[in-house]
Amino acid sequence: VIPPKGKPKWLRVKLPTGKKYTQLRNLVDTYNLHTICTSGSCPNMGECWGEGTATFMILGNVCTRSCGFCGVKTGRPEEVDWAEPEKVARSIKIMGIRHAVITSVDRDDLKDMGSILWGETVKAIRRMNPETTLETLIPDFQGVERHLDRILEVAPEVISHNMETVRRLTREVRIQAKYDRSLGVLRYLKDHGARRTKSGIMLGLGEEVAEVIQTLEDLKGAGVDVVTIGQYLQPSKKHLPVKTFITPDQFGKYREIGLAMGFRHVESGALVRSSYKAHKHID
Ligand code: SF4
Ligand code: SF4
Repeated sequence: VIPPKGKPKWLRVKLPTGKKYTQLRNLVDTYNLHTICTSGSCPNMGECWGEGTATFMILGNVCTRSCGFCGVKTGRPEEVDWAEPEKVARSIKIMGIRHAVITSVDRDDLKDMGSILWGETVKAIRRMNPETTLETLIPDFQGVERHLDRILEVAPEVISHNMETVRRLTREVRIQAKYDRSLGVLRYLKDHGARRTKSGIMLGLGEEVAEVIQTLEDLKGAGVDVVTIGQYLQPSKKHLPVKTFITPDQFGKYREIGLAMGFRHVESGALVRSSYKAHKHID
């Protein structure tokens, strides 16, 4: 564990390169497409886009929640744009995306919490891109089963919901969320026909090793198939500080521990984001 004075060398990122990356970058600029990959300047674009994977956010870009680690703006979101499913489906078509990850802000302001638009988005993508596989990285929908059922009905290849941190830090990191509610969401999805479930945590927020291992055990207990473990980085000075930088060696240990517990895939590394190498998680 390294105290956070300047970024360690394994977090220094190379600029993305590659033919496929350059082609996609041009399309995104020409058609003014929106991906999380570009808006968050994700360090993995060269790799993910090279594999035909990208992440798209729906339901606007203002969130009703205010998680201490997240760079998305908090406030009163805009009206739902019912044309959004078609727009996202078209972006995926133009970019020739083979595996799309869809995520959204939380819409606690809406009666259906956005779940209807979620379902419509998956349907529109399937209609326009029958070959594209999908991961839906969903909010907790406050654990309301009828909202979760709308995701199960459209049967994405992978359904993910991130725990983000260990139990003790959940209040501080995700003020409006609850550790057990998120675990319950993952359990419900698995018990009601989700083909594959997935969850992610960020490290470096002050968690202990034993707490990380406990979280992995809890995820296993909730029937989760795939876990991602990455380094938290502070989006701005207003966000929670980085307490520690986890070493590559320690990330490697967590991968081994996760695999020994029986997870199908464990992505564990400093630059891992929840959609990193997402195309691999369907098999
Ligand atoms: Fe960010 Fe999601 Fe939290 Fe909203 S609910 S603030 S989008 S992490
Ligand atoms: Fe995009 Fe996610 Fe890959 Fe980053 S890790 S480039 S956000 S798909």
